[in-house]
Parts: sequence; C-alpha cells; structure tokens
Amino acid sequence: MCFVMVGCKYVANAYPRQFIMTAHPAGVGLVLSGTAFFTSVEMFYVVPMIFDPNGLMYKLAWLVAIFIVYNILGNMLACHRTSSSVASLPKDRQIPIPEEKHLWEHCDHCQMLVPPRSWHCNLCRCCILRRDHHCIFTASCIGHNNYRYFFWFTVYMTIGTVLALATYLLLLIINEEIRRKYMLFHFFQLYPSFLTSGIDLLCVLVNVLFVLNVYAFIFPLMMIAFQIPTLYLNTTFYTSKDLRYNLGFRENFKCLMGTRGLWTFLSPAIKSPLLHDGTKWETKQPIVSIC
Ligand SMILES: [Zn+2]
Ligand SMILES: [Zn+2]
Repeated sequence: MCFVMVGCKYVANAYPRQFIMTAHPAGVGLVLSGTAFFTSVEMFYVVPMIFDPNGLMYKLAWLVAIFIVYNILGNMLACHRTSSSVASLPKDRQIPIPEEKHLWEHCDHCQMLVPPRSWHCNLCRCCILRRDHHCIFTASCIGHNNYRYFFWFTVYMTIGTVLALATYLLLLIINEEIRRKYMLFHFFQLYPSFLTSGIDLLCVLVNVLFVLNVYAFIFPLMMIAFQIPTLYLNTTFYTSKDLRYNLGFRENFKCLMGTRGLWTFLSPAIKSPLLHDGTKWETKQPIVSIC
C-alpha cells in the first residue's frame, strides 16, 4: 500500500494535470460503481436469502441500506463541493491582521502569505486551509471546510462494507448449500469435483463476490485508520507528529466537525458551523514569534 501511495505521489508531482484527468474519474467511478454494485448484490441477492422478502427485517434492511448509501454519496458530494482553499475566505481575511502576521507563512507558488496550517496543493494549484491531503475519491482537497464530510464519507464506507461482509458470513452460517459452494473454505474437497463435473458458475460467482467484499472492506478501513488519530489529536495526514493543536478530544472534535459535533453523523445536510474560518488556530501553548 505504501508503494502505491509513494507511486501516486510521484506521478501526481511529476504530471499533475494528467494525474487529475485520470485519477479523479477512476477514483470517483470506483466509489460510485462499487456502491451501486455492492448495494444491488446485497439487497437483491444476499439479504433475500437471509430474511423473508415480505417480512419486517427485509424492510428494515432496505432502510439501513438507503441510509448508508445516502450518507456515502451525500458526504462525498458535499466534500467535493465545499472548497477549503485560502481563496474561499472573504477578501479581508486573506490578508493577516498585524497581530497575526508572524504566524502566517509565505507560499512560493501563490506568492502570498497564507494562514497557519495552510499549505500548497500541486493538483489544486492553490493553498488549502488546514490541508489534510488530496483525495482522488472525492476529487477534491481535504481541508478545514470539508473535513467533516470526508470523515463521515470514510466512516459510512466502512460501515457499509462491514455490514455487507457480515451478511455474507451470516448467509454462510445459516445456508448449508451456499457453504458447500465456498471453494475458499473447501478448496481441496472441491477441486477434484471440477475434474468430474466442470466448474460451477454459481460457486465461482459467490466466491468472487466474497473476495471483492473483503477488498472493499479493507480499503475504507485503512482510510479510517488514518483519520481516527487525525481527528483525535487534531493533526493532519502529513503532520501526524505535530501535536501543538491538540486541545483534547472534545475540543478537537468540535473544532473539525463544527458546533453540532456528533449530530453531523446523521446527515451531510445538518448545518454545523465551524468554530472559526481556518485562519486562527489555538495551540496548547502560545506560539512565540522568533523575529
Ligand atoms: Zn500556495
Ligand atoms: Zn488538492
């Protein structure tokens, strides 16, 4: 995974325009097609084999599925549409007030002073407030204004794939016929049967779906594994060791999620104003000017 990330970073720095033109459609397409594919397979194939399609549990499963898909796609869209660039600030906030000037840094690319924790993105060609990283799956830079949406996007991707995997495992436990068709579990017994009766297409399909589901679960799990310490300590993806802005979990959570805090979990449509505009960052100890 590290090799993939280093490779992507190298290509993004060397060929930013080409990288955006290929990685953005591929990343967004993967999320959209993956969400549509797994939701369809789960709700039209797997879940009806567990619950009665006319029963209450099946209807509840549909409600949960719709809620998760709404939050995956809603947060993804909100993340893409919410800009965290320094240019999104009101004009008068793009220039430091005299008391804050020593905290701002000069960006050689933008040729201007930028607020603390802001830094330049080669792909977006601008400085981003509290920049975390550039995300190809939402086709946007993750920063101060859209971090909330990105975090819940990864959380709901993880919840969705965990539930999909759980229903598969439940199906395996309760359905002996399906269990017998899993060559992952019965490879050695099943292999000779290929020689006598040929390949069972349903068996192959069920196994391929299971393997895809495992991969679909691991990927968002890795994304969330990076983001939980980031949120807990108020750091960023690239500055995980900088603990100056860690004001305790409650304050950090409010700082990144806004005044409504945990309620933002329910929907990207819930308004949750941020505590500040991304230019004033409180630290545990005041930063003293060296100049
Ligand atoms: Zn810049
Ligand atoms: Zn960017």
